[in-house]
Amino acid sequence: MIYHSTRSASLQADSAQAVLEGLAADGGLYVPAALPAFDWKKCLRGSAMDMATDILSALLPDIPEMGQLVRKAYTGKFATEELTPTVSVGDFHVLELFHGPTSAFKDVALCMLPQLLTAARRAKGVEQDILILTATSGDTGKAALEGFKDVDGIKICVFYPDGGVSQVQRAQMVTQEGNNVTVCAVVGNFDDAQTGVKNIFAACRDKEMPSRLSSANSINIGRLAPQIMYYFKAYRDLLDAGKIALGDEVNYSVPTGNFGDILAGYLAKKLGLPVGKLICASNANKVLTDFIQTGTYDRMRPLYKTDSPSMDILVSSNLERLLYLLSEDAELVAGLMKQLNESGSYTVPTELLAKIQAEFWADYCDDDGAQKIMGKVWNELGYVCDPHTASGWAAAENYVNQTGDTRAMVVLSTASPYKFPEAVLRAIGQTPAGDGFNQMEQLNAVTGVAIPKNLANLRTKTERHTGVIEKGEMLPFVLGL
Ligand SMILES: *Cc1c(COP(=O)(O)O)cnc(C)c1O
Repeated sequence: MIYHSTRSASLQADSAQAVLEGLAADGGLYVPAALPAFDWKKCLRGSAMDMATDILSALLPDIPEMGQLVRKAYTGKFATEELTPTVSVGDFHVLELFHGPTSAFKDVALCMLPQLLTAARRAKGVEQDILILTATSGDTGKAALEGFKDVDGIKICVFYPDGGVSQVQRAQMVTQEGNNVTVCAVVGNFDDAQTGVKNIFAACRDKEMPSRLSSANSINIGRLAPQIMYYFKAYRDLLDAGKIALGDEVNYSVPTGNFGDILAGYLAKKLGLPVGKLICASNANKVLTDFIQTGTYDRMRPLYKTDSPSMDILVSSNLERLLYLLSEDAELVAGLMKQLNESGSYTVPTELLAKIQAEFWADYCDDDGAQKIMGKVWNELGYVCDPHTASGWAAAENYVNQTGDTRAMVVLSTASPYKFPEAVLRAIGQTPAGDGFNQMEQLNAVTGVAIPKNLANLRTKTERHTGVIEKGEMLPFVLGL
């Protein structure tokens, strides 16, 4: 199946090559030249892993034996065979995406990506090992480490800002096991670590390297495609529970950062799933809310540090894919991305904005708003959610109030409340005490919700990766791996 760059329809690759390359050579992202015919009703009948197999074989047909890869990726890694269960809470349905090995939704994709990469490498006859390089502000690094650990032919190296991640997030990474993993702190903030990684990619581009460098972020179609499954799974859960009839449209509200998760929802719709409105929820960093409401994307603004750090982002890379899919005009997209790069903003043509607004609705909620939602959902409905999920809930509520839309509403829950116990405790009227581990226990005592095993075990695990280096030492560090 042919993929091409969002910035040039003639820059093409088959699906295995697109997964191997990640980013297209012109800086664009790979999109399918045409979506395959897909039997969405049949897909809905299988288990979560069957759904993943159907969807991934349709979108990445050049990667063989997909069923086997899917089982290898997920078997025994999630708290439930269902992978991503849906629970009804009040008038909404919460799609719980946090039952994987690191308790964040990124597990769904990052368990699968290593399988896709190794299979793509085999399919293309690439002999070289792959070295995954990632800078993380917390969640991605750990999910990538868990996904890639002990995968043959791949090594992974994660850099995080020294002092810039939570105590629990640090503990998750420095205790990482596996014979192919490296974790190192960098003196500086997240941008320093990320810039350092970008510089390493640039410095190694034309060098003879023992390993082929690759990245684990959602610019790779192999990271995006595995996320489509859970939109189908939630739909099926609502069918099974008698909440909808086959063919009814369902709205989804998605806590959004890099626009990968919500774009997977749009692709689910393109594959035939009856998706109604996709609601794009942001925190105080509301660049996407402004864009979807006005058509102007403007990253020239301060970046706020919030209680939902995985959504603290000003450039949402995957939006570029949506711009292409709705305009089918690579020249237009290339021009807009050039403007974004050079002047920090762009405005889409009126017709394109109308198409975006027909599919998406957007809203945001700051930390105070998220506190109120978490408190209300706990006090009135007895359900504990994390600050990212709270922004999704807030946007869903505002959407229903403003439009009166009565279609079923699924709110995607992207992280376990135990990843952010301090903010959650405050929201439900408690005074957080002690360190992150004490707060997890405190939250457990108040709510009775079980602490995910991977987080409960952390405190007693051995620290294996305690190195700290300067920015300037990152390249020699990587060359020495
Ligand atoms: C990454 C992340 C998001 C944002 O997802 P995108 O695909 O980047 O839009 C939301 N919530 C949590 C907890 C995350 O880790």
